[in-house]
Amino acid sequence: MSIKKVAVIGAGTMGAGIAGQVANAGIDVWLLDLPKEDEANALAQRGLERLRNPNQPGLISKAAEEHIHLGNTRDDFDRLTDCDWIAEAVVERLDIKQDLYRRLDAVCKPDAIITSNTSTIPIRLLVEDMPPAFRRRFAITHFFNPVRFMRLLELVRGEDTDPAVIDLLADFCEQQLGKGVVPCLDTPGFLGNRVGVFAIQCALHAAFELGLTPLEADALFGRPMGIPKTGVFGLYDLIGIDLMSDVVQSLVSILPEGDAFHAEAAKIPLMTQMIAAGRTGNKQGQGFYRDADSGRQVLNLESGEYQPAPRLNLPLAEHAEQEGVKLLLDDDSTHGRFAWRVLSRTLSYAASLIPEVGEDPVAIDDAMKLGYNWIKGPFELIDEIGVDYIIDRLEADNMTIPPLLAEAAGSGFYRVRNGALQARHNGGTWLAIERPTGVIRFTEKRQTMVPVSSNASASYYDLDGIALVEFHSKANALDAESMQLLAAALDQVESDGMRGLILHNDAQHFSCGVNLQTVRNFFRREDMTGLDRFLKDFQDTVQRMQHARFPVVAAPVGMSIGGGFEVVLHARQVVCHANSVTGLVESLVGLVPGGGGCKETLYRWIELLQCGDDISEACWKAFMNLGFGKTASSPIIAKQQAMLRTNDRFVINRDRILGEAIKAIDDPAGQVEFVRPDLALPGRPLFEAMVEWLEAAHSKGQIMPHDVKVGTELARIVSGGDTDPGSVCSEQGFYDAERRSFLDLVTTKATRARIDGMLDAGAPVRN
Ligand code: NAD
Repeated sequence: MSIKKVAVIGAGTMGAGIAGQVANAGIDVWLLDLPKEDEANALAQRGLERLRNPNQPGLISKAAEEHIHLGNTRDDFDRLTDCDWIAEAVVERLDIKQDLYRRLDAVCKPDAIITSNTSTIPIRLLVEDMPPAFRRRFAITHFFNPVRFMRLLELVRGEDTDPAVIDLLADFCEQQLGKGVVPCLDTPGFLGNRVGVFAIQCALHAAFELGLTPLEADALFGRPMGIPKTGVFGLYDLIGIDLMSDVVQSLVSILPEGDAFHAEAAKIPLMTQMIAAGRTGNKQGQGFYRDADSGRQVLNLESGEYQPAPRLNLPLAEHAEQEGVKLLLDDDSTHGRFAWRVLSRTLSYAASLIPEVGEDPVAIDDAMKLGYNWIKGPFELIDEIGVDYIIDRLEADNMTIPPLLAEAAGSGFYRVRNGALQARHNGGTWLAIERPTGVIRFTEKRQTMVPVSSNASASYYDLDGIALVEFHSKANALDAESMQLLAAALDQVESDGMRGLILHNDAQHFSCGVNLQTVRNFFRREDMTGLDRFLKDFQDTVQRMQHARFPVVAAPVGMSIGGGFEVVLHARQVVCHANSVTGLVESLVGLVPGGGGCKETLYRWIELLQCGDDISEACWKAFMNLGFGKTASSPIIAKQQAMLRTNDRFVINRDRILGEAIKAIDDPAGQVEFVRPDLALPGRPLFEAMVEWLEAAHSKGQIMPHDVKVGTELARIVSGGDTDPGSVCSEQGFYDAERRSFLDLVTTKATRARIDGMLDAGAPVRN
């Protein structure tokens, strides 16, 4: 059997999200909710509206939406008769779920699979009244919110679940829905929430007890620990303080009495007051943080009053982010104590869960990386810090040492043997980590390899005759060293006759662009010659890559924006993730793309619109996209916006991108060479029309004064500027024009203010 038709019952946050992801996979799905009196499908319709939210689109394209069919559980229940998989995502109430299963059992075909999205109810209870045949085809598929973006799927089997059902669901969710499937036993909170909520609670209570401000706690329980920068208070705001408190209470209700979670679950009076006062986080516009007219504010945890939240300068956190979390733990300060308190408890807790939740550390580490976006899982963190160091300090603090941790003394949890990454299982057996065929996580692969060449910003590896370039600076921002490394890899592929080159990394984002600090260093020294040389080297490298005689594949994940996207634009083929975000956003910081981005945008619009001799329309499109710093939230949209070419493709599971990129190197069909002929540009009349458009937009208050200046430079590049119509520009001419405009803008105070704002306050100044 295969899954070809799906139904989701319950069109709330999760149900709509699941239906959206099924539709993203190109599979038909019925989305049913309760009927409403005046408009029967109103609730399902509301679920669909949520997927259309432009700030967090649940769908990768308009076409995906057509796979979703809306209905209700009164009029459309018979639609379920030919569904292969029915995912239940109704409210977290056992009686309601059980009623539904009885109805489903009566209408669904005998081999249809039925799953629940429950976070807290054990399978055993869900199906206790159901016949054995139903129990065999029943499992929990626990998705995370937002479903499109969170990679984790916890697949929980019950005592009676048929293994074939689990295998089918695992394959389907991994390959078609793009999820990282983590098999779980029917234990309370499964893996992600069991460890994740525990860690959050530890950080919350430690912050209150040690008197840290939310800003301090989030700066520590965040990037330095490899945890998203929302930290603990920011995450509470994001999820909703009320919702998080409910989650904590439900874990309290299902975890056994002796569980260490209970010690971290006490209600905090200030938070009870906040919930009562409607200060529940981002959805109410105020929680621990809020945006006021005067800027961002943070709650004083003692007084309960808001106060300004300037960007926190915490050198310890910054150093720890660069050099490793142990730096934090070794620091004899309140901040160091906070870090030790949170990590010692969290890591011990994770270790104490084995063997209750499974035999090996991989599943817990995967759950935290894929479900909570941690860079390293708890056991990987233990290895980084050193298992013996942790044991010594736990002993010194008279804390319990979980048996698993004691067993791992002197060895840790992961090692490389015979070219394979192995994990230490309960009892001390070492087994290679197995992933489904075609899945390659570069973070794992890399541990088994030695780079051919490496510097602070990038490395390259020889992957069976393919050069793989990885950017790895902070946020993978590009600087001279990144480009030197890329140039060195190009040299080697050429000289050694390697099969090709892949640009890839397994970080959250491929690259956020050129390092603005590099740009600022140049302008602070007024070294325009140096800046020009930096840009020219960047351009020469991407140009060389673009016209290389061997295959070049860019395999980006997450965001590729600004200079990061300019590198991608010069690869012969892009194999990216379905959630890849792309765009040239330089105008927001008062710059124009200076690494071939303007040129590529123009050529690509000409190709997409199939312009003949008159390329004015393509010039306008390029001008608008670049001026507004447009981004595309999926590769499908990127193609419609001329950001990707027709031979570029995407993969729904990001763990399969590298495997697909390797295949693409050897597939000539995808390797479409670039033709970048000289262009006859519209020149002066179009340039003047564009400047007029900018002035009109400014006078209507639609754009800021400096946007007019930046826009004028973009207009100059894409139209040919103050030249006669038909003046010819070569590919090199565009590169030169980009550099001229870039340098011109960098001399302006307004651009410098935008760059300062971005670097110092995290947001560009609107001027
Ligand atoms: P929600 O409140 O947003 O949506 C629940 C939906 O179920 C509502 O639209 C409601 O009208 C509908 N519903 C209620 N009774 C129904 C019935 N008898 N038939 C059909 N529809 C019915 O809830 P949610 O956050 O989407 O959670 C759904 C499930 O997913 C719960 O089991 C929850 O524990 C679990 N879950 C939630 C999250 C999360 O972050 N929200 C994460 C993972 C799992």
